[in-house]
Amino acid sequence: MALMTLIDSDRQWCKSALGIEPGELPRDLAFCDRTIRSRDALVIDDTLADPRFARHPMVVGPPGIRAYLGAPLCTPEGYNVGALCVIDTRPASFSEEQVAILHGFAGLAVEQMELRLIASRDSLTGALSRRAFEEHLGSALARHLGEGEPSRLALVDIDHFKTVNDSHGHAAGDAVLAAVSARLQAGLRRGDALGRMGGEEFGVLLRDCGHEEALAIAERLRLAVADIALPALPGVQVTASFGLAPCAAETGSVAGWLAAADASLYRAKRNGRNRCEF
Ligand code: GH3
Ligand code: MG
Ligand code: MG
Repeated sequence: MALMTLIDSDRQWCKSALGIEPGELPRDLAFCDRTIRSRDALVIDDTLADPRFARHPMVVGPPGIRAYLGAPLCTPEGYNVGALCVIDTRPASFSEEQVAILHGFAGLAVEQMELRLIASRDSLTGALSRRAFEEHLGSALARHLGEGEPSRLALVDIDHFKTVNDSHGHAAGDAVLAAVSARLQAGLRRGDALGRMGGEEFGVLLRDCGHEEALAIAERLRLAVADIALPALPGVQVTASFGLAPCAAETGSVAGWLAAADASLYRAKRNGRNRCEF
């Protein structure tokens, strides 16, 4: 059996599995939780001969683990976030070469995760890339059509941003973009998402959020943006306009949802900017 696992605060979850049902485990039961405590591989030739594991429920019960070899998934920042491991129901005698091979594969797995992370993030603001954000919208739309979850989308466009660039330079404009993104991110709830749609426009996905709550959150975000004061840009007032739209069956597509929010945003601009429209 082979598994790629990730460990979070209280559980292990399986990203990929071969020969074993992928599932979640409480962290204290997970072999891989031991693996991530070291840079070295965890080598267990025979679980029954190892007092740490001999009475483990997955040793004495199904799947009857007898041998385990796990290499930590170590990020470039030096965090062990999970493990790549192979498991057998018979005892093994793992060689140094096999351990080295598994370390090599663990390195490849981390590289793939890093590439995905880079592709999904906007490098200037740290917000999701447009593509990754639209994937979140797609999932929210599916949840709406399936379970009726009432998500909301806000499109956020910085007001008169061109004047910041024109009067203070492009680097100042970049600093404003990063500050706005940080303010929006700080105001999100767990499960919400922030994406950079392009230029000075952001998207905020408010998950499982009714009309009144969306109104309140958008208004709070608007005030948080208007409160930005950059020491390097004294006197520069940053505001943004917000256009909201509910996830609705009649829009039927992510493009339709975006268009509905865009229509609201257009109204916010026309009605004087620094405001939320629905
Ligand atoms: P409005 O209130 O109608 O939205 O006016 P605006 O000036 O914000 O809108 P406009 O679309 O005319 O200008 C957007 C500007 O954003 C133009 C573009 O040069 C600038 N911009 C787009 N991407 C970036 C970026 O990554 N960095 C910087 N500094 N500027 C950017
Ligand atoms: Mg703008
Ligand atoms: Mg714009």
